[in-house]
Amino acid sequence: MEEKSAKVYLLAHTMPVNTIDGSKNPERVVAAAGKLCYSKSDVMNLYNGLDDEATEKFVNMLSSMGHQSPIEHISFTFGIEGISRTCSHQIVRHRIASYSQQSQRYVDLQNSFNYIIPEAIKNNEKAKLLYEKSMLADMDVYKEITQALIDEYTQGITDKKEISKLIKKALEDSRFALPNACETKIIVTMNARTLLNFFKERCCNRAQWEIRDVANQMLDIVLDVAPNVFANAGAPCTFGKCPEGQMSCGKRVEPKIKQIIRRK
Ligand SMILES: Cc1cc2nc3c(=O)[nH]c(=O)nc-3n(C[C@H](O)[C@H](O)[C@H](O)COP(=O)(O)OP(=O)(O)OC[C@H]3O[C@@H](n4cnc5c(N)ncnc54)[C@H](O)[C@@H]3O)c2cc1C
Repeated sequence: MEEKSAKVYLLAHTMPVNTIDGSKNPERVVAAAGKLCYSKSDVMNLYNGLDDEATEKFVNMLSSMGHQSPIEHISFTFGIEGISRTCSHQIVRHRIASYSQQSQRYVDLQNSFNYIIPEAIKNNEKAKLLYEKSMLADMDVYKEITQALIDEYTQGITDKKEISKLIKKALEDSRFALPNACETKIIVTMNARTLLNFFKERCCNRAQWEIRDVANQMLDIVLDVAPNVFANAGAPCTFGKCPEGQMSCGKRVEPKIKQIIRRK
């Protein structure tokens, strides 16, 4: 059993093809989609004249107008590990996205599962001891339930394939005993418009610390790839007014260094 923390990796993102200068800058796709809306240009000529400078201008113009559909044409795929099932459940509430998550039905965690420990619990000696005790107990109970079910299902069965199927059947039900703290891994694909909404909700101090950490890592990553699209991304208070009213935390979320540098 190992304690884990969130790590986000960029696995893929949209790239244009057939640009005049061979650029792979995804913002060219956004600019081309925007250009199509406002010009007579044929599709095959959309990239003409769209160098990085023109692309930046176009993307900024779309952003200032609030014309968001062109940014739906670029997507980002992230691999996320070291997060709890609690966090992954919050992530998948964002419906305009695609997900693939490690299965607790098919991945056998009997040898041990990894878990996430909240900072507040880690910093409280008594809470930490109780937490670790509970993780160990959960592990034992999970193993015992799995074994009890395997023993029942495989009685008198010798065929290896059949036994393997029955082990999976046992895992299907014993996983109900696993804690929310259990580590999971998930691949997430979101388009840029969904990401802006995700950052607005999840970089906010009112979001829970774990998904906030994930959102901040994702924002750091996409700022490298599409800095103009995500120039104003983040919690609403970073560049505007807090919409939370009485629920407001009263603290402004600082912009990312990459956003500050871009504004200079
Ligand atoms: C601080 C915080 C606390 C939360 N607490 C709770 C809670 O206590 N309980 C709870 O259940 N959830 C809670 N949530 C989750 C929240 O309600 C959303 O389900 C989640 O954040 C996903 O956001 P979304 O719907 O905007 O994203 P997406 O599902 O990606 O949707 C993006 C946007 O598309 C539009 N859209 C998508 N589907 C529909 C639809 N069916 N009808 C109309 N428009 C649609 C909306 O404009 C939406 O904003 C919380 C979220 C946060 C950030």
